[in-house]
Amino acid sequence: HSGFVAIVGRPNVGKSTFLNNVVGQKIAIMSDKAQTTRNKIQGIYTADNAQIVFIDTPGIHKPHSRLGDFMVQSALSTLNEVDAVIFMVNAEQKRGRGDDFIIERLKKVKKPIYLVINKIDKIHPDHLLEVMDDYRDTLDYKDVFPISALNGNNCAELVHDLVEDL
Ligand code: GDP
Ligand code: MG
Repeated sequence: HSGFVAIVGRPNVGKSTFLNNVVGQKIAIMSDKAQTTRNKIQGIYTADNAQIVFIDTPGIHKPHSRLGDFMVQSALSTLNEVDAVIFMVNAEQKRGRGDDFIIERLKKVKKPIYLVINKIDKIHPDHLLEVMDDYRDTLDYKDVFPISALNGNNCAELVHDLVEDL
């Protein structure tokens, strides 16, 4: 059970917090090529019989320049090279244009996509169904995980399922 998992989502949804929570080891970027794309290996999860290399993919938003467009393209090519994709959203916010921009790009990605609804510690449990409904018909998700990256709620379960699928 080993492979690469990319994590995408709007700024501030909690991507880095999640990675810090699940990843024991941080590694430095050694390759010049990695620096040109802004997609960086963020950390490696290792267990007895499993290893996941997480790749933070922050560059997927509407580009305002040719450089921005280049970065979106390189982020998208990363998504086609990994084994699975985590699409992280914020449970506190309604689905917005930033989310929809990412969803449109993910439609072309032929990899399992996990919808991860973060910051559930900040919402009333009844509200979770509304959030899930908001995303229901957007993509053909492999699975949906409500989590709190901050307090770790349901994070181990998500990683466990990722490992099983790799
Ligand atoms: P990123 O831009 O997607 O990498 O988001 P960050 O990981 O930097 O998080 C943005 C902000 O949201 C920070 O202030 C985090 O502490 C906060 N945050 C992240 N995850 C959670 C969560 O599960 N619950 C709460 N309450 N705050 C969170
Ligand atoms: Mg971040």
